[in-house]
Amino acid sequence: MTPEKPLHDQVAIVTGASRGIGKAISLQLAAHGCHIAGVSRSESSAASIKEEVEAFGVTYRPYAVDVSSGESVQEAAKQILQDFEKIDILVNNAGITKDTLLMRMSDEDWQAVLQTNLSGAFYWTKAVTRPMSKARSGRIVNISSVIGQHGNAGQVNYAAAKAGMIGMTKSVAKELAGRNITCNCVCPGFIETDMTDELSEELKATLLEQIPLKRMGSGADIAHLVTYLAGPHSSYLTGQEITIDGGLFI
Ligand code: NAP
Repeated sequence: MTPEKPLHDQVAIVTGASRGIGKAISLQLAAHGCHIAGVSRSESSAASIKEEVEAFGVTYRPYAVDVSSGESVQEAAKQILQDFEKIDILVNNAGITKDTLLMRMSDEDWQAVLQTNLSGAFYWTKAVTRPMSKARSGRIVNISSVIGQHGNAGQVNYAAAKAGMIGMTKSVAKELAGRNITCNCVCPGFIETDMTDELSEELKATLLEQIPLKRMGSGADIAHLVTYLAGPHSSYLTGQEITIDGGLFI
């Protein structure tokens, strides 16, 4: 008899599931037996990882939702609850950057980054609170960034959103602990995805020099940590911001 997978028959919502870190998280959770509701902006991109995820013997359903719209998130959460009958895990991972120096940053660039990265996480967290509270159990994992902890020139909007996620994590952890719902935050350093592909080779080389482990992280590095935070062995861990950056900010 094979031992049961630790997340057997659990249901996770993963936002930004179509690629990068969100895809790696979806695959890793699925490998541990978890069904996945994968969210991204278009049906086709959300559906693009279905086959790979379902190869682990779980169900994957794609949802086209713009996380920056509170109404769309609320509707989608209702639909997901109807489709899967429960929500055990929420991973707030969808995010964007619109980098430029403060003096040149438009109100639109500020709003867009805050609305997607921070308000998106707020909308989803609010939407899952009722079903998780009823079930007296839940795991919420927010993907913040080392930039939210330390700031970065050219990323005032992104740093503010990611720092906001850390504050939100701690407050949600306090508010929902009585319902046996944990909420933690992961702060990745530089991870190889489409988002960091935009960086110049020169900047990447400079960064690599500063990373003690001498490599950029992979989506899988982050996914392993998220899987732990989403799983049964992290039941006494809540309200934490966990840095995973190859030692960059030691
Ligand atoms: P990525 O490769 O650019 O992927 C972003 C994901 O978010 C895509 O699946 C995208 O879906 C989705 N998304 C963006 N805006 C959305 C919206 N309004 N509604 C729904 N989905 C949306 O990014 P990544 O590098 O994997 O980053 C994932 C998360 O980790 C982000 O929150 C990012 O800030 C954080 N992070 C990344 C790094 C890094 O070095 N890469 C470091 C620290 C933190 P579609 O485009 O298919 O709609």
